[in-house]
Amino acid sequence: MTAGLIDIGVNLTSHRFNDDREAVLAAALGGSEPALAAMVITGTSVADSRAAVALCEQYADRYPQQLFATAGIHPHSASDYSTACHAELAEQARHPRVVAIGETGLDYNRNFSPPAAQERAFIGHLELAADSGLPLFLHERDASARQLDILSQHRDHYRGGVLHCFTGEKKALYGYLDLDLYIGITGWVCDERRGLGLQRLVAEIPAERLLLESDAPYLLPRTLRPKPKDGRNQPCYLPEVLATVAALRGASAEQLAATTAANSRRLFGLPAAV
Ligand SMILES: [Zn+2]
Repeated sequence: MTAGLIDIGVNLTSHRFNDDREAVLAAALGGSEPALAAMVITGTSVADSRAAVALCEQYADRYPQQLFATAGIHPHSASDYSTACHAELAEQARHPRVVAIGETGLDYNRNFSPPAAQERAFIGHLELAADSGLPLFLHERDASARQLDILSQHRDHYRGGVLHCFTGEKKALYGYLDLDLYIGITGWVCDERRGLGLQRLVAEIPAERLLLESDAPYLLPRTLRPKPKDGRNQPCYLPEVLATVAALRGASAEQLAATTAANSRRLFGLPAAV
């Protein structure tokens, strides 16, 4: 039993869930012994954040304490950031189901938006976090030095946050930890090739700063058996990430589920488990 597990990053608005979103939710949250106690749906654009909140509302009767959302614009789409977007995100941040600002941050890996646009959007999100009092849901690829710079300059103004899907180096990890941020671990850690660096680091993350996330439909844990034919990740597979992280830390899965869930509730201000 790993009761109480919380998935802090699910891209549930993805078109890859269009045909069976309800079943995906039921597989994760339904039944007498649900795989998860709660999940946070990631917002990656204004429209997408609105859709994430709409899903929380749509299923509020069935999952009254289990569904939450973030509001933000992914760094890939930072060029879209405008005054109007900022105003709408500020409005969304007031919704009781919205528990974080993001995802936001810098991604120099592919630079789908130019770095200057990414920084402008990031600063805008930092303002939203300061104004709303909500924590940050942070993304970063190949941009840790600049991202840490910006985060430290603004550190007095935001309450906290999580570096989601952390896959970086030791120096970046300790930089984020020094800023009192949480670290989100995905199924990347189950990858026997590109996850090796992360596997070595994962035991160094203090237990009270560790969070778990599926990042579904992306990052299907490569160790999952049987392998789903469609290759699509789902929030109900999060126990696979839990098991891997627990083994790497020499911890029990039950204990780690409880600790990471308590961390999630503390960071995002989620209601206590019922
Ligand atoms: Zn991300």
